[in-house]
Amino acid sequence: MEATARRGSGARTSADGASHVELPVVSNFTPAPFTVPVYDLMHRSGEMREHELDVAVPESFGNALIGIAEHAKMHLDVRLEALHDGILVSADVTTVATGECGRCLDAIELPVEVEFQELFAYSVDEAFDYTVVEDHIDLEPSVRDAVVLSLPFQPVCRPDCPGLDPETGERLADFPDRKPKEIVDPRWSALAGFQSTESDVVGESEKSDSAEREKRS
Ligand SMILES: [Zn+2]
Repeated sequence: MEATARRGSGARTSADGASHVELPVVSNFTPAPFTVPVYDLMHRSGEMREHELDVAVPESFGNALIGIAEHAKMHLDVRLEALHDGILVSADVTTVATGECGRCLDAIELPVEVEFQELFAYSVDEAFDYTVVEDHIDLEPSVRDAVVLSLPFQPVCRPDCPGLDPETGERLADFPDRKPKEIVDPRWSALAGFQSTESDVVGESEKSDSAEREKRS
């Protein structure tokens, strides 16, 4: 007889024979901002429900240049469908990523809108990454994966951001009159830097060479 596993499903008889109503107690389950209760859908194939979640992101995540900051606001439109194996989640996530331009290091904000679909299985199964835990699902790992995958690895403040002056480190966008340098394929930029160092520094080194010579003589 399988009397222990079902929780929150009304009366059952305890060891002393007395009948009592079991409350839907949240036992070792820790509610987190991305968890959604699904007790009303479990094992009811064909049932569907929609949820809206407004979450303050508990912990920042992203890549080196851009990500979702701690406490950033995130909105989720979630559709839950009860299937035979578990709960199918379809979610739309909207938020704003913050970070810095990969060329000029200016602060940038990037609206993020991403969707994902994931099945939360009723039982642990290799075929599925996620399971219903007690009578909840935790969307956080799926949300993180979907959002991180959507973030650019080279975010820019604008598509034609000229970046930083390789010599002075100043933002070239602040000096529109400065003669733009030849745009170099980034794969060659190291070589270009090498070349310009050679040609630009010749004057300096000649001077210092002659100074050295003067000192020596
Ligand atoms: Zn920029």
